Amino acid sequence: MVANVLLRPGAPVDGVAAWDLNGDRVHDGLDWFCQNVTTVIGRLFLRLMFMVVLPLVVSALALAVVEIGDVRKLGRIGLRTLLFSGILSASAVLLGLTLVNLIRPGDALSAEARQALVERNAAGSADVGQKASKAKSVRDIVIDMIPENPLQEMAGAIDGSSKGNGMLAVMFASLFLGAALAAKPAECRGVISLLEGLNSVAMTIIGWAMTLAPLGAGCLIFSIVATLGYEVLVTLAWFAVTVLLGLLLQLVVVYPLVLTLFSRVTPLAFFSKISEAMQVAFGTSSSNATLPTALRVAEQNLQLPRETARFVLTVGATGNQNGTALYEGVVVLFLAQVFGVELSLGQQVMVVLMSILAGIGTAGVPGGSLPLIVVLMRSVGVPGEGIGIIMGVDRILDMCRTVLNVTGDLVVATCVSGDAEEPATERPA
Ligand code: ASP
Repeated sequence: MVANVLLRPGAPVDGVAAWDLNGDRVHDGLDWFCQNVTTVIGRLFLRLMFMVVLPLVVSALALAVVEIGDVRKLGRIGLRTLLFSGILSASAVLLGLTLVNLIRPGDALSAEARQALVERNAAGSADVGQKASKAKSVRDIVIDMIPENPLQEMAGAIDGSSKGNGMLAVMFASLFLGAALAAKPAECRGVISLLEGLNSVAMTIIGWAMTLAPLGAGCLIFSIVATLGYEVLVTLAWFAVTVLLGLLLQLVVVYPLVLTLFSRVTPLAFFSKISEAMQVAFGTSSSNATLPTALRVAEQNLQLPRETARFVLTVGATGNQNGTALYEGVVVLFLAQVFGVELSLGQQVMVVLMSILAGIGTAGVPGGSLPLIVVLMRSVGVPGEGIGIIMGVDRILDMCRTVLNVTGDLVVATCVSGDAEEPATERPA
């Protein structure tokens, strides 16, 4: 019966019911159940994701660079793709962070509820204290960007015990690894295959974790809602509004602006031509699954040169995820507000950089960003279990951010081609 309750999509509501039935405080029996059953299952689910985050990030980032290097023959196109992707991801993250700082959705939680939450995650709250005292200056963050010892940074990246920038340093080391591999692809074929294998192993395990998601995420949500009650739902509503507003602004302001400046297609014509790809992205929550439709739309409706479309959209399906980058930044700052963690300017800069890079390292599958979000949270001192707070709305927000991810790829492809209105017949075969 318990499994029945937890497996249902209404787990947050059940958590509220449990909390409400017991008045203002959590009943001892419910408390025991949360501590020893739901929290344990929830943490096992999270650990399954932690376990593969490092191989996933290292292989995904290095292989993304190798792929870009591989098509150096595309020269200008490769460079312009990087440039546009960088600009769009950075604008998305900055937009999200500005909104989350203005709206401050995490502040909707009362001081008592926050206290209860921090106490529940005692291990995490010890972390919070440690991290707050470890806040670094922007100067040190820049220096630590290149790790002295990548292996040491990797070891400390997950639990936040690294001496340097942790996950950010690992991400930079992976970019260097990819660049070096791309410089000598023939000699390094073995290492590239190894990374491809590692990536596929990590994706397989994430796939297993995702089949457990209804139970694991349900347990995390149950524990949190049973502890905090209705309040958390109000906070969550503000969080969802912040994310949706950020995604909307990127969609109706940033993309049209970039299209007007750098392409010959008008924003209105662009959106009407790609609407099919947007619908598939919304329905599947997966950039990868939308790739065939995006390719068709790019070639047939937007009339982009086939080679350019193929390159930009394939690399972009995992490498250019504007919506995901925005979401990752907002989640980390929102949860920092919820847990009362004050982030210094340096740490916020770190969140921006990590979110952009995490957008590149995120797999284009439903929930692909969740493992990275947990690592990002922990690297700024927010307990990983806190992700349970957003799990209840993650699915719907995943559908929305995937629309942005796919639209962003098509915007980049259009701008890079620069000849969006040229007839299809003039395209290279
Ligand atoms: N579902 C997203 C995509 O496939 C990735 C994520 O943000 O979880 O593009």
